[in-house]
Amino acid sequence: RSDLQGKNPQVLGTLVDITDLKEAELALREISQAQQRFVNDAAHELRAPLTAIQGNLDLIHRYSNMAEEDKEEALADVAREATRLSRLVQDMLALAKGDAGTELRMEEFSLGTVLEDAVKATTMLTREHLLEVSEFEDVCILGDYDRLKQVLVILLDNASKYTPTGGQIRVHLERSGQQVLIHVSDTGMGIAEEDQPRVFERFYRGQLSREKDPGGTGLGLPIAKWIIEKHGGKISLQSQLGIGSTITLHLPVLKEVASS
Ligand code: ADP
Repeated sequence: RSDLQGKNPQVLGTLVDITDLKEAELALREISQAQQRFVNDAAHELRAPLTAIQGNLDLIHRYSNMAEEDKEEALADVAREATRLSRLVQDMLALAKGDAGTELRMEEFSLGTVLEDAVKATTMLTREHLLEVSEFEDVCILGDYDRLKQVLVILLDNASKYTPTGGQIRVHLERSGQQVLIHVSDTGMGIAEEDQPRVFERFYRGQLSREKDPGGTGLGLPIAKWIIEKHGGKISLQSQLGIGSTITLHLPVLKEVASS
């Protein structure tokens, strides 16, 4: 006992080390459990499109004299499921890179440039909506250009997927101290209150969105979250079922854009 009271600092040092080790071990166990869960969920998600592809190909093989129309339908199903499979693999790789601690390629650029780029990249998706980008005072940020573009594309893609034709999508920037807030709002179907805390979890998809867009992966928002957090920012959500949603990115500002 007296050793613990400081007479023998070596023993105390060892005890502290053991506590650290225990903590590290627990942390490692948590990481490996999370990875295990990810692998299980991934296998589960991959199985559905694979089964559909196999089933349809089997059908075509077995019934060589099947009606042309039915064959077309089965092939269209194969194509759709293959697209979903490739999207899943792509998104999983993006997340695996995040887990592996892949470093971002940081550079200085204006938020306006990346926003314009993301809007252009999604014109095909948002063409049936009223898209409005409000005027804003541009700022310079330090970030990974491609990754931030990816985040904005995910948000615009979601806004268009979950908003009926003719609905509104609005991008609005707000300055808050040393941060810039980027709000992407829509007048779409909204997210049920019980789903809201879960939409940033990997593979989680709201029930309504599964019906609306069976091709989704449930990985868009988790990808957006890790990218934004890697930039020292955060992502938040406000939504009302049947009214619409706003996803907000909070990012640190590097400096003002010099006016010419
Ligand atoms: P996905 O869109 O492929 O399902 P995400 O991770 O991007 O995956 O989104 C997770 C879930 O969050 C969606 O399935 C949907 O339920 C909900 N969601 C995300 N963005 C919106 C939005 N703008 N409007 C309504 N629901 C949304």
